[in-house]
Amino acid sequence: MPFAGEAGRGPASAALVDVRHVPFWLDGPPPETAPALAGRTVADLAVVGAGYTGLWTALLAKSRDPDRDVVVLEGRTAGWAASGRNGGFCSASLTHGLRNGLDRFPDEMPTLERLGRENLDAIEKTVGDLGIDCSFERTGELTVATAAWQADELRELPGLAAQVGSQLKWLDGDEVRAKVDSPTYVGGVLDRDGAAMVDPARLARGLREACLRLGVRLHENTPVRGLDGSGAGVSLATPYGEVVARQVALGTNAFRPLLRRWAAYVVPVWDYALVTEPLSAGQRAAVGWAERHGLSDAGNLFHYYRLTDDGRILWGGYDAVYHLGGRTDEQLERSPATFAVLAEHFFTTFPQLEGLRFTHAWGGVIDTCSRFSPFWGSALGGRVGYVAGYTGLGVGASRFGAQVMLDRLAGEQTERTELAMVRRKPVPFPPEPLRWAGIQLTRRALAKADARGGRRGPWLRALDAAGMGFDS
Ligand SMILES: Cc1cc2nc3c(=O)[nH]c(=O)nc-3n(C[C@H](O)[C@H](O)[C@H](O)COP(=O)(O)OP(=O)(O)OC[C@H]3O[C@@H](n4cnc5c(N)ncnc54)[C@H](O)[C@@H]3O)c2cc1C
Repeated sequence: MPFAGEAGRGPASAALVDVRHVPFWLDGPPPETAPALAGRTVADLAVVGAGYTGLWTALLAKSRDPDRDVVVLEGRTAGWAASGRNGGFCSASLTHGLRNGLDRFPDEMPTLERLGRENLDAIEKTVGDLGIDCSFERTGELTVATAAWQADELRELPGLAAQVGSQLKWLDGDEVRAKVDSPTYVGGVLDRDGAAMVDPARLARGLREACLRLGVRLHENTPVRGLDGSGAGVSLATPYGEVVARQVALGTNAFRPLLRRWAAYVVPVWDYALVTEPLSAGQRAAVGWAERHGLSDAGNLFHYYRLTDDGRILWGGYDAVYHLGGRTDEQLERSPATFAVLAEHFFTTFPQLEGLRFTHAWGGVIDTCSRFSPFWGSALGGRVGYVAGYTGLGVGASRFGAQVMLDRLAGEQTERTELAMVRRKPVPFPPEPLRWAGIQLTRRALAKADARGGRRGPWLRALDAAGMGFDS
């Protein structure tokens, strides 16, 4: 087990000393900010949040009905949060992976897999049609085993995938290392077509521009403080204004929900990432990686990593941190202890890159729900829709999330709205401090299972039985 232990103050930390604590993707001049809302306005549809969910909702609403008057209200700037700081894995999976989907929606998986591929194809087409410059590369994804028990689990995946109409290929250790060279790899599974790598911030900015071109009214620096449905329209209060809308779509992700009942379903979990300086030709030759697949390893606590278009490596994941009370404040974006652990694991994976330095280190919140895949809801007599819960796999799924939210707001019955995945909610989290204690216990139990050849202890088995186990 190459990643055992929580240490992380070793020599690898020297590679971190010059990092900038800003998401690599957002480290450049931002677009001109849209004006904050001042005064009262009316709209057909008000969208709250301008991450991918909100932006896809606005864009798709306009393409369904160009005459619809759509207003987007964003508390800060479009794409500043998860959508601008993620790993850029744009996956076809709507269910946070095959196993998680099979555990929760076994009968629906052939449909969910097909809808997921159609969704990814549609994202690719939109990016092409609208000329969104986000380095969209349909590289596919390689999941690597770094321990024999992980290889045993991965070896079963191609057979399971075939049963639901998807294709995966098992690769033995030599075949994996011929693609990307790490002494830790003992096998892997290749999904050749089911994922693209994107520049996440440029995707968000491209969607923002497309919305503006279609006449969407965007107000940044405009946090919505509350919703009131007592009148004919739904009123959204902002610091210096008010929108009265016929319908409202909420894409507020892991942040404090505007609907109180939502708070039981989503917890903000911090995820962290590093980016290296560009690799020299020699360093690149030492790792291979010619096909530029996105990579992740197959532990319960896993890393995800990929190449950027200027030849750096983004390396993230492993530690998933929840703070008592669901804190999302900015100071938590820096976590030196987590960065040090990540750096150490990076050089365990690629010892041949010793001497490479990291340039960026940051964190962001993930909207985690107990089934690790999105869920939908509505309020105020169906006039307000919401979607959240992507749990770290929302780059692609957020477009599907937006489509379903719009179907439901329109009162349409579609193949999507009839899915059990759409109709059912996840198991709610308990209130604090039980919530915090349960999440800490789970994190420790997952690390323990990784250290013990994948064997799940009593706590994880109890969660599995309650429908809250994690297996992506
Ligand atoms: C470090 C990290 C790595 C990740 N890696 C991947 C990956 O590789 N692949 C993948 O698929 N997913 C990944 N994810 C998850 C993915 O980024 C998210 O699922 C996705 O961006 C969710 O988009 P969203 O629009 O729902 O949320 P967000 O991008 O978080 O947007 C929500 C927006 O709502 C706004 N808002 C909230 N409340 C209000 C309010 N009251 N009024 C006005 N505005 C409000 C916020 O300011 C924010 O801009 C990662 C996430 C993180 C943090």
